[in-house]
Amino acid sequence: LSERLSGVFDRLTKQGALSEDDVKTALREVRVALLEADVSLPVARDFVKAVQEKATGQAVTKSITPGQQVVKIVHDELVHVLKGDGEPDDLKIDNAPAPILMVGLQGSGKTTTTGKLAKRLKEKAGKKVLMASLDIYRPAAMQQLAVLGTQIGVDTLPIVAGESAVQIAKRAKQQATLGGYDVYMLDTAGRLHIDETLMQEVEDVRNAVNPRETLLVVDGLTGQVAVEVAEEFDGKIGISGVVLTRMDGDGRGGAALSMRAVTGKPIKFVGLGEKMDALEAFEPDRIAGRILGMGDIVALVEKAQETIEAEQAERMMKRFQKGQFNMNDLRMQLEQMIKMGGMEGIMGMMPGMGKMAKQVQDAGFDDKILRHQIALIQSMTKRERANPGLLQASRKKRIAAGAGLQVSDLNKLLKMHRQMSDMMKKMGKGGMLKQAMKGMF
Ligand code: GDP
Ligand code: MG
Repeated sequence: LSERLSGVFDRLTKQGALSEDDVKTALREVRVALLEADVSLPVARDFVKAVQEKATGQAVTKSITPGQQVVKIVHDELVHVLKGDGEPDDLKIDNAPAPILMVGLQGSGKTTTTGKLAKRLKEKAGKKVLMASLDIYRPAAMQQLAVLGTQIGVDTLPIVAGESAVQIAKRAKQQATLGGYDVYMLDTAGRLHIDETLMQEVEDVRNAVNPRETLLVVDGLTGQVAVEVAEEFDGKIGISGVVLTRMDGDGRGGAALSMRAVTGKPIKFVGLGEKMDALEAFEPDRIAGRILGMGDIVALVEKAQETIEAEQAERMMKRFQKGQFNMNDLRMQLEQMIKMGGMEGIMGMMPGMGKMAKQVQDAGFDDKILRHQIALIQSMTKRERANPGLLQASRKKRIAAGAGLQVSDLNKLLKMHRQMSDMMKKMGKGGMLKQAMKGMF
């Protein structure tokens, strides 16, 4: 998106201030990008309006282009909307034992998140936590929580057959009080869809324990549905915060923006995987970047068009789709990267690559390193370039020495090659690579 916006502005005549028309043109792109990122229509509309008001008439800073300036305004507004009050991972867990109620649809990740959060509270805050499953409909779900408890070393309330959800909640409270727990977490049952019985049950539990936090767990990949679920739960039960799960997937984060805008409730955590430590405090900056920087294929293609010969690109694409990506290809890529504004420039424009680009950037990646990597590839033999699998210790030493670098530098290059190769394979399978390069020839 950033690039697309810059492009829009580059075509416009330079003026001293952002005119209404300039802004309108750019915001059309912003709106499309928001919708592509799964932001709901009314939210996207309001958002664009807010940005329009902020942007119009703003003086253009000399050192940056109008496009960059609008991108910044959009980014800041995204962060502004996404930001909750106070620290994101601030949970109200004073007055032990503090009840935390976990609610949401079935499969949204409640049980997993209960475990993750319990682990976090235990390890980061030194809290003594008790977990209880209120899923009386699925004995397996109760077992699932017990297993997680053992795995992370957190107690679970013993399972007693035949109790109602409210009875279990009350027993958890009692046990938490008697056992000197700081927090007790109630993992409720979910349904596939919101229904009255479910809501009533959660409401009864809420009334029974008066939770300090009621966290709604929603699947970040479900986009619009997640927002409806949030509205429903907040209206009926009243939530104190949201946990967005599956943010490790390729959802675009737009649900976060809609959810925040619609419910006004803070997103407190994001789930980034199935493992018990795959939970992070919500960072508005990161999601804003994800929404803005998401797979801007158009920009990628436009930039690539300027620099890559069409035939060369087609040949490369065919090979990548077959999972062939050798050192010669990597070298070409590295050379392209230098032309196209570095690693972050190119990877930020490809879906799912933003995170990797950031890592690369954080690792202090710059053009000098790109040039070093090219030197390493140059000091390989033809056979080695075609088949990096050949590189054993002695060959590695020779190559590194040939480029005037360390073996560790070479290892980093090989690792990057492997990662890119994997990525290419995945993209090739999903047809994403083709999409990414569509229009180039
Ligand atoms: P519940 O029905 O709401 O309790 O959902 P579960 O906690 O049982 O989770 C359903 C599935 O989603 C499980 O296979 C989890 O491992 C998986 N899951 C939960 N959170 C995440 C996440 O953040 N990322 C990924 N990739 N999977 C998750
Ligand atoms: Mg569950």
